[in-house]
Amino acid sequence: MKSLNKQVCMYLLFIVFVTGCSIMGEDPLPFDPARNNRRAYINDLAANDSLNQAIVEGMNFYAQPGCTYQFQVSGYLHNDCKLHSYRMFSAWDERLVAPVEGSWLKEGEQVSYSLSPDFKETGLLWVIMRNKNGDHCNEGISDFSLFGEGGYAANQFGINYHFLGSFTGFSQDDISPFTDSLHNRIALMYNEGAGVNVQKSGPHFSGYNEPYTMKFPYDFENPPNLNGGTSGFINVVFVSRITSESSGGDILGFAPREGLGMNEEPINWVIILFDSDYTRLWSTVAHEVGHFLGLRHTVATDLDLQNENDFSNLDDGFTDTEYCDLDGGTGISAEPGTYWCVRLAGNSLSAIRCSITARRNLMFPYEQPTLNQNILSEQQSSMIQTNLTVIQH
Ligand SMILES: [Zn+2]
Repeated sequence: MKSLNKQVCMYLLFIVFVTGCSIMGEDPLPFDPARNNRRAYINDLAANDSLNQAIVEGMNFYAQPGCTYQFQVSGYLHNDCKLHSYRMFSAWDERLVAPVEGSWLKEGEQVSYSLSPDFKETGLLWVIMRNKNGDHCNEGISDFSLFGEGGYAANQFGINYHFLGSFTGFSQDDISPFTDSLHNRIALMYNEGAGVNVQKSGPHFSGYNEPYTMKFPYDFENPPNLNGGTSGFINVVFVSRITSESSGGDILGFAPREGLGMNEEPINWVIILFDSDYTRLWSTVAHEVGHFLGLRHTVATDLDLQNENDFSNLDDGFTDTEYCDLDGGTGISAEPGTYWCVRLAGNSLSAIRCSITARRNLMFPYEQPTLNQNILSEQQSSMIQTNLTVIQH
């Protein structure tokens, strides 16, 4: 993260506003991580009060070279509000951001933003609505959305299979054919369900000889070492135990709600509890990879609503996935705004209210041990392909 940001200023001038007037040099609002550190999910179709709030307070997303992003307000927008975007030199140590451009975003219109294809690095953007006094635009807006499409392959991605530590009952020789069959099952699902080809790298073994216990959420400052892997592939990391300070159940795996990029940064890892139960394992990996590619749960859990501090996002916004009334969250607590999917072992009592079709969807939030959870709808499939074009890989 930090090495990336050091290079950001060098490329400042490559940033281009396709529309809108430039106001280079305007003072930015101070970046306040407690208030402004929301993530924006690109191409998200869910009812999105959290995004409307985030753009007022300041939100960030990773812009990739060669990609185009469109900000759009189809609902209410106060006349005094103006869209500003800033390049972040450092999102995490509270240093000020660099002002880049501002543009009027009128109700019903859209503003496009792109990084030059010459710009080789991912750019962390901070976007905020400011009023004519340069302050927060507290009047609020409605129906704000952020769309992106771009220059990366829509029909393929890769997975690095990492194994941290030793696994009782499995030698390294056992793990290799196991990984092959696991990958083949996952690749088949994504190929048939989303028309996407999934490549494989691994298994890659770390230098740890003992069983490895991963804490949720893990310590970004002191992550374990991964060894090997192909650049630009999703890092799926198997461990022999996952613990959480919160009670709530056995964690099968966790992943960011949406991948920031396919690189070795720990924030982009998909953590999976290794399990000799092959069906449970492949469906958990495939589910978490689905989040990485930008898919929401078909039905939000209490945890999802709490993490995003948005109780309007009850489903994924797709018309071809089924909504059903779930309650009873996972009981696993995460800081609001950290946006993890935490997948727990076993069924949820409330899930039986949902139809078999709903429960068989890959992105149904709870494990359904008796069902094959491998269904992707056409709209889910389409979103995977669109999102892949804005993930550098
Ligand atoms: Zn999930």
